[in-house]
Amino acid sequence: MKYTVPSFHGGIEIKKETNSTSAEIIQTYIPNYALLVLKTYENQPDFRIVVYEGQEIAEGQVVAQSNTGYKIHAPIPCVLHKIVQVVTPMGYISQALVIKLSGYFTLSLNSSERYHWRSLNSNDIRFLLNEKGVICSISGKPLTEELAQNSSADILVINTLIQDMNCHGENLLFENTKTKILEAAAILHKIFNFSSIIIATHFEYEFTNTEIKIIEELKIPINFRLFPLKYPQADNHLIEKTLLKTYPKNEAHKILTLETRTLIAVYDAVVKNKPFIEQYVFVGGNCLKTSALLKAKIGTPIGSLIEELGGFIMKPDIIAINNVLKGQKTLDLDTPVTKNMHAIIALNNTLWQHQSSSICTTCGTCIDVCPCLCNPMEMYKNQMYNIQFKNTRKYFEKCIACGLCTYVCPGYIKLQDLFLKAKRDLL
Ligand code: SF4
Ligand code: SF4
Repeated sequence: MKYTVPSFHGGIEIKKETNSTSAEIIQTYIPNYALLVLKTYENQPDFRIVVYEGQEIAEGQVVAQSNTGYKIHAPIPCVLHKIVQVVTPMGYISQALVIKLSGYFTLSLNSSERYHWRSLNSNDIRFLLNEKGVICSISGKPLTEELAQNSSADILVINTLIQDMNCHGENLLFENTKTKILEAAAILHKIFNFSSIIIATHFEYEFTNTEIKIIEELKIPINFRLFPLKYPQADNHLIEKTLLKTYPKNEAHKILTLETRTLIAVYDAVVKNKPFIEQYVFVGGNCLKTSALLKAKIGTPIGSLIEELGGFIMKPDIIAINNVLKGQKTLDLDTPVTKNMHAIIALNNTLWQHQSSSICTTCGTCIDVCPCLCNPMEMYKNQMYNIQFKNTRKYFEKCIACGLCTYVCPGYIKLQDLFLKAKRDLL
């Protein structure tokens, strides 16, 4: 391997897993009931629901659409039981469909078909991505919106980095889907004509001879870059910041960063003509005997996924959605898998058990660890005592809410919660 990307300031080294992770991706059981949440980001405009209560719905049939043409599909053949309002696993309000399994699976019958995408132009590809309901799994936005916002990007980064200190599913997903990823990268290359496509990884990879052949045939300028095994390196902002340091200062580049699972959804939509009805979810944490990457139908209750891994071996204090430090926490096993869910981590005996002292001892630990060179101690004092420091506003602008300052604070002060609120109020 190739090129190494320099480390960023602060962060925390990611330790090896303490419990075993299955080397296989596990296809989960089909749920009898599913809760299909429509919104995948806060403030997303409402959808027009195109099915009615009591209607029989085919697997993959469109059930709702936005005014930009982005569509949502039934993950299973079903009857629409009712339309409800829910608080999503990410913490905002959305309409949702309660659906009950009924009828036959039809999409899996076409799994060997391939569509000839090479003659498609960029508008055709964008249309298909919207039509099949592909989202960017980190932002939750329809992928076409994300692509439009990054229309001047000349570098594509495929993010296979570990998203959370307790979640090791990303490289397993990448290793199992490499050829799909290459083809999906070639599809996006048709839209952007990237000068470079970079696979951001923590581990030494080489392309096999078969993969090299595919790359030559697809004519994509792709290569690996080795990133430090630290949290929160997988954050898009930190990837861009550290990666750009490896280019000459006089070169201006714009980076589009997408995760492995988003590329797989691109492949499924364009090559397999398949709607976005399944998601890869890492399920782990110290309350489970084993951890694994599961392929689950959207809407499946997270309790079913945990059950499939043998259930809990001890009672969890929290179940974190996507990220222990940044994500929402729940104990509700009926929480449904959503399009933007990629990890469920059940933990006990963690910092959530500790009472926050709310008194800063000015130890400075939070300053050492912040990857954005902020001063969390000053930010805290600003919020608690209204003290203005020279760079307070700049720090709130730079903060990526990674949660590391909270994680290391010996007083267990909930710094990140304060900073998230401050960012909303100030910026
Ligand atoms: S939450 Fe913000 S202030 Fe705290 S360590 Fe992360 S970036 Fe720095
Ligand atoms: S780590 Fe906690 S106690 Fe130490 S300076 Fe930061 S906020 Fe204060």
